[in-house]
Amino acid sequence: MTPGHGAPRRGIPFVVSAPSGTGKTTVCRALIERDPRIEFSVSHTTRAPRAGERDGVDYHFVDEETFLAMVKHGRFLEHAEYSGSLYGTSHEALDAPIAAGRDVLLEIEVQGAAQVRERRADARFIFLVPPSMAELEERLRGRGTDAPEVIARRLAVSVNELAAVRGFDYVVVNDALEDAIAAVAEILAAERAGERRRALERHGREAALARGAGALAELPGAGAPTSD
Ligand code: 5GP
Repeated sequence: MTPGHGAPRRGIPFVVSAPSGTGKTTVCRALIERDPRIEFSVSHTTRAPRAGERDGVDYHFVDEETFLAMVKHGRFLEHAEYSGSLYGTSHEALDAPIAAGRDVLLEIEVQGAAQVRERRADARFIFLVPPSMAELEERLRGRGTDAPEVIARRLAVSVNELAAVRGFDYVVVNDALEDAIAAVAEILAAERAGERRRALERHGREAALARGAGALAELPGAGAPTSD
């Protein structure tokens, strides 16, 4: 369907992913709070709620049987296993707001993002990267209560996730939080205005890889030209 004159605007799905420990949730929360034109896609998950999390707001918390029945009935746009739990974005979370002209923010991990890329040509993909591997390791250490092998495992997962950058349109380094939020807001504004080229010049993946933005400088093959 080609939108013609007077066709109602459809919303844009914005997918935000990052290696674990990059601070993606903080950036996403700030965007949702500050930008009334974008809403949060509430995912389904089989993991237990954490303190303060509300069912239907942070996630739809479901048991594995319910989740697998939803998979079977084709209710998910994407789903993935992460850290022993299942996570998925339902078609329902996306379709109504998009049709009503509202943008939707999907805060999901990289396997799910790859599935959305296959299935939704209208989606835009933003990847947050940590300033450096050392900083990432520091963040993953958290309060210092985890065993060294647990931290090492998390770091290995994050390095793998970092390599997924090639499936994303945009890269934002999460060094200073306000700068990262402003950069993502700029991408959203440019995409809405149909000024993709401008956004890509400033925040495009190829440019980020070429200059080795943040931890990308430490990625094997950084600086080499990539194909999609
Ligand atoms: P957490 O359990 O910490 O809330 O989330 C764990 C990971 O799952 C995070 O990387 C988060 O972005 C991701 N996640 C949350 N919802 C979804 C979803 O619907 N699909 C996918 N693929 N990942 C999700």
